[in-house]
Amino acid sequence: MVDMADFHVDIGPQYEGEVVRKEDMHVEFGGPKAKAKFELVTLKSMDEVEHEKVEIIGPDIKDMAEGSTSSIALLVDIAGEELEKDMEPVIERRFHMYMNNIEGIYHMNQRNDIWIRLNKESFKKGLNSLKEVGDMLIFLYTSELMAIEKISITFVTDEAKVQELLADAMKIYAARDERLKGLKEEDVEEFYGCVLCQSFAPTHVCVVTPERIANCGAINWFDGRAAYKLDPEGPIFGVEKGECVDEVRGEYTGVNQNSMERSLGEFDQVYLHSAFEHPHTSCGCFQSICFYIPEVDAFGIVHRDFSGPTVIGESFTRMAGTTSGGRQVEGSLGMALEYLRSPKFIQGDGGMYRIVWMPKEVKERYQECIPADLFDKIATEDDVTNADELTAFLEKVGHPWVKGEVELP
Ligand code: SF4
Repeated sequence: MVDMADFHVDIGPQYEGEVVRKEDMHVEFGGPKAKAKFELVTLKSMDEVEHEKVEIIGPDIKDMAEGSTSSIALLVDIAGEELEKDMEPVIERRFHMYMNNIEGIYHMNQRNDIWIRLNKESFKKGLNSLKEVGDMLIFLYTSELMAIEKISITFVTDEAKVQELLADAMKIYAARDERLKGLKEEDVEEFYGCVLCQSFAPTHVCVVTPERIANCGAINWFDGRAAYKLDPEGPIFGVEKGECVDEVRGEYTGVNQNSMERSLGEFDQVYLHSAFEHPHTSCGCFQSICFYIPEVDAFGIVHRDFSGPTVIGESFTRMAGTTSGGRQVEGSLGMALEYLRSPKFIQGDGGMYRIVWMPKEVKERYQECIPADLFDKIATEDDVTNADELTAFLEKVGHPWVKGEVELP
């Protein structure tokens, strides 16, 4: 039985929002420097899970050099009579909260984007093994989610093994996202909201609809439904849709009301499908940014893994600084990459036909959701390096937006 008294550091919500900067870091797992990283929860049958077992495959914290970066796979197996397959992503998303509840640990992002840091102070206090981190996570999971009857955690830090396991995890993430195909906002009465990121972005409220996955990409509409069912008092809640005020921009009275209440009066109007006027708030966990390019009156997309400068000369990291924090920033929309697949993707601003630049990797990964007549007309880092070159490129290829062929709805 895991006990609080066994831990070298404290646990509690007071540590949420604590950031571990590079100079204070003892070691880190995942993040941009790590070759492979992911977290995954899997529901298994009762006899397949050895309760409270923590296994480490690869080097442990105490074996790592100070300041080093390691690949990581965080695998959690759970079992319980009341658990459902739909609940896996929701329980997985709790990592973010629980990891950040541990004194001296900082967790960002989700799925195959995770970034975890341990600070020097907690290491000096004796937190020098992933075994103890696993015990703390088990303590938090079993204290808060009673439906979990059995839980075991495996940390894989062997880089080759993480890379091998990542391929299967990607298939699982894709299958989760696939379930939403065809389901529309008009088909449901209720959306879901999440305020997990308020520890870092105090006025941020994610609104999750069948056509708008959460900014982090980890919670889709089905996940929101499962989360609310699993823990009705938790950070994910139902949002009554209310009346549709603006079908194109995606404005609903229920969403406005919810945002006003949950942002403590900061915002009372939200467009779910526009980056202008009242865009969805951006926390800090978003996978990508849809950014306005004034020279061509159109948008670019940049994702977290793109380290170079974008076509406007700013990197993702720099743009994230001005986009995040839980604000509505006109022309700068933090979003999940999967939102690109939504038929309502910034439809109030012209949708995919208003996109003129994106990293090659994103363009290839999301090829099937870019109209065939547009694909070659969206520039990448291989085609242009600044706004002047972009303008010339768009004119040369005849991008429908610059040719005036796209009518705003
Ligand atoms: S990005 Fe949104 S859905 Fe994801 S954890 Fe943060 S608040 Fe929740």
